[in-house]
Amino acid sequence: MTTGEATAGQAARWVARDAAVVWHGFTQMATYPDQAPVMVDRAEGRELVDVDGRRYFDAISSLWVVTLGHRVPALDEALRRQLDRVAHSTMLGNGNRVVVELAEALARVVPVDEPHVLFASDGAVAVEQALKIAFQHWVNRGEPGRRTFLALGNAYHGDTIGALSVGDAGFGADVFDPLRFPVVRTPGYDDPAWAAKAVAALDRHHRHLAAMVVEPLVQGAAGMLMAEPEDVRAVAEACRERGVLLVADEVATGFGRTGWLFASEGCRIRPDLLCLGKGITGGYLPMSATVAAGPVFESFLGEDLGRRTFYHGHSYGGNALAAAVALRHLELLADGSVLANVVERAEQLADLARRSLIPHPAVATVRQRGLMAGVELAPPSPGARWGRRVCAAAVGRGILLRPLGDVVVLVPPLTTTASELSRSVSVLVEAMDQVMAEDGVPPRRRENLRPAAAAAAATASPDGDRPPGASRPPAP
Ligand code: PMP
Repeated sequence: MTTGEATAGQAARWVARDAAVVWHGFTQMATYPDQAPVMVDRAEGRELVDVDGRRYFDAISSLWVVTLGHRVPALDEALRRQLDRVAHSTMLGNGNRVVVELAEALARVVPVDEPHVLFASDGAVAVEQALKIAFQHWVNRGEPGRRTFLALGNAYHGDTIGALSVGDAGFGADVFDPLRFPVVRTPGYDDPAWAAKAVAALDRHHRHLAAMVVEPLVQGAAGMLMAEPEDVRAVAEACRERGVLLVADEVATGFGRTGWLFASEGCRIRPDLLCLGKGITGGYLPMSATVAAGPVFESFLGEDLGRRTFYHGHSYGGNALAAAVALRHLELLADGSVLANVVERAEQLADLARRSLIPHPAVATVRQRGLMAGVELAPPSPGARWGRRVCAAAVGRGILLRPLGDVVVLVPPLTTTASELSRSVSVLVEAMDQVMAEDGVPPRRRENLRPAAAAAAATASPDGDRPPGASRPPAP
């Protein structure tokens, strides 16, 4: 077949080719071809276009990575210019001009004192690096007894073994439980007393804790659970007072999603280690980073080839193409207009939710911070697969959504317009109406639905989006 322009009716062929050779993450491949996957050919602005020319508003920012939209001329241009210099050179023992420039630009904006930036490619690795740095920091300081971590219920930090270990059980990854190292765990943001309980655990365990790991403000993969800034701040202060390092995982919240450039700013905290990823390149290229505060970085200084050295680094860490895009992306965020749009659109979304989502009989509750929102559905029975089916119905209407279990996630790009947002919400309402009608649920049976919905959440449905026995939906 010819490459380039799509012609009508090609999706099925592409899906067959795809299923023959590609293994998709968090996806049951035996049923993948039957789920009508969107086969992307190209994008324009905030829309993806499939191989048959159908358009989809990217209401999940391609898994929370896209910030300004797809094919942003200034980012395209930055990437092209860097191609004429160098695509990649190793950062192990050597430097690269554009990576230095990016680190300088990040250092000016990250909520970390005297920052030093260690680059990698995925969010999970940014967390993995932070855990290893925190652990070795105490060894280097001559306090090797501080070797465990305090982490929260519902936490999700990525899929590598260390990140899985600080992440909570569930998310469909229970099979790996024997590989996860033990941590101290206190409740997550669904417990209104989570902060007090974390502080109590800090009191009990601080002599053995290398660090505490938090997702400031939003536990995203858990289904968009929200924390109050003062609670996050209280926990951060308790860490500082007890000498426990604070790791802020801002892989999801970083680069504007919550209305602040970093959620840590909203909480007025200065983490010792900050994990960045996803939006760092505006959704263009895989890049992540672990930012270490001065005292942490300095504990690694010592003799050449000595034991204080951090013996860790990834082949593509600090990729020059990604760095060039990330640098230009930071420049585009600098004047504050994108963040101002997030705040305005977030208000609009809250208003739309109040008017048409929260009162909807299919909705249990809506949680939102900035442009990170979760619409928790209230299915009539366990196994009704409402999350999956509502999103499929929305995709059929041109809005690309993906659920976390029975939570429909709305994380549109930061540059989203008022009309894109209101269209997304009205399509979501239509999609919920459709699924309710398919199941013969009368439009006004909300009170009756609620208990069943609670039972569904407790026992988990056999949905591919929430494996049997999983206490939480699988992560993005
Ligand atoms: N931390 C958080 C808070 C995340 O939301 C995610 C991914 N959704 C990760 C870490 C892992 O990032 P990645 O998928 O890039 O490894």
